[in-house]
Amino acid sequence: MRLFLAMFSHETNTFSNVPTDRAQFEARDLRYGGEIVETYRGTGTCLGGMIAAAERLGAALVPSVAAAASPAGRVTRDIYEHVKQRMLADLERAGRLDGVLLDLHGAMVPDGVDDGEGDIIAAVRRAVGPEVPIAVTLDFHSNLGEQMIGGADLLHGYKTYPHVDMAERGTEATERLAQVIGRRIRPTAAWRKPPLLPPLGNQGTARGPMRRLYDLAGEMEKDPKVLSVSVFAGFPLADIPDAGLGIYVVTDDDQPLAERLAGRLARVAWEHRGEFIHSALPVKEAVARALAADGRPIVLADMADNTGGGAAGDGTEILRELLRVGARSAVVACLWDRAAVQQCVKAGVGGRIALEIGGKVDDRHGAPLSVTGTVRTLSDGRFIHRGPMMNGLPGRLGPTAVLDVDDVKVILITYRWQTLDPEMIRFVGLDPLKEKILVVKSTIHYRAAFEPIAKEIIEVDAPGLSSSNLARFDFRRIRRPIFPLDPDLVYEPE
Ligand SMILES: [Zn+2]
Repeated sequence: MRLFLAMFSHETNTFSNVPTDRAQFEARDLRYGGEIVETYRGTGTCLGGMIAAAERLGAALVPSVAAAASPAGRVTRDIYEHVKQRMLADLERAGRLDGVLLDLHGAMVPDGVDDGEGDIIAAVRRAVGPEVPIAVTLDFHSNLGEQMIGGADLLHGYKTYPHVDMAERGTEATERLAQVIGRRIRPTAAWRKPPLLPPLGNQGTARGPMRRLYDLAGEMEKDPKVLSVSVFAGFPLADIPDAGLGIYVVTDDDQPLAERLAGRLARVAWEHRGEFIHSALPVKEAVARALAADGRPIVLADMADNTGGGAAGDGTEILRELLRVGARSAVVACLWDRAAVQQCVKAGVGGRIALEIGGKVDDRHGAPLSVTGTVRTLSDGRFIHRGPMMNGLPGRLGPTAVLDVDDVKVILITYRWQTLDPEMIRFVGLDPLKEKILVVKSTIHYRAAFEPIAKEIIEVDAPGLSSSNLARFDFRRIRRPIFPLDPDLVYEPE
């Protein structure tokens, strides 16, 4: 059994003014051929799961390209075409294939294309013809679209947020693909897109409306006729017609059953739509509460400045308040400011400097902050993920500096990456357990590794492009009416 393998992953926040160009992919991941297998084998990622399952099944992998970049603005045409054409050229060269495995995101918006994954899947389908089955893993935040569904035999969405089941989904997609190749199953899908645009803040699967939907999906999957159920919460900050919640049910050759279950999930999602509305504490209240709280560490979640949702990662409002009230024993993890890192490098460890940090990308993450501090540590930004997400995968933050401003330690990074692992604090020589306050720039993912160590978590409503307050965004192209932007919308699920 010969299986083609490729990864192309980006979550595009169309409100961001940071173009996702080739350099952004090179900073995160852009690799080819056998190196993909060497890098991802044994990691908690979709590729890790696909590689493990393929090896267990005795399948030969034909690895092509793996490309991923931190979420930001639209993917530029040149890098998009480069990755797509590389995939198509490798497919052409691959000779006889039994199946195709794609690790995609589902919310990539390249310049001039609304549905990047739909476009990729359609192109792969044209290349391999109608007979070769295609199985795809998609992020929980996929904005499910018709082109993806029509082109692939199987879509497998992550069932968790924080995404701790990526390897499991990669394994599942590979095993199901092998069953299709062996003609043991006939995937038959139904899908629904109720008019729902859930903000990120209450999409977590530990509790709330997505837990309810996945509990129901879990019950449905107990039926041996049901191959898989994916409920995509969607990525609301891609201003495209497909943005929002999507439901996808695959049965073994039973269309009426797939339709019935998809309809039921859509109805339940709609009935509980109010639970998706999220509220967090204003910055001043949140900082005051953290200072007054017992024990340590207290996590202040800077949910709206999550680079993992395409925000700048250089928001200053919580830091400004910490300094204003004279907070001590605090860490801000991590602030994206390449210029500030360079100034710290120039000053050297122990150097004392005055500089402006953050607030430089746009006017939606607070203004730049003038501070004077001491450079505490400098590093090359290389670390290994040690938490439940992407466990074992190397991470790169680029040149990294810790600037100590009166015992508020700001971790300044060169490459954007969401603070989803306490290792991103530890590797620069800070101990997250000994600090009073940890400001973590992440919406939900931080919970997987920070909940077990945090004395308390406080969700903060600071400004930023991953805000759960969707009224702050000037949507122009999403489907309307849609909840919660049009709260009185009348919708009758079948
Ligand atoms: Zn996601």
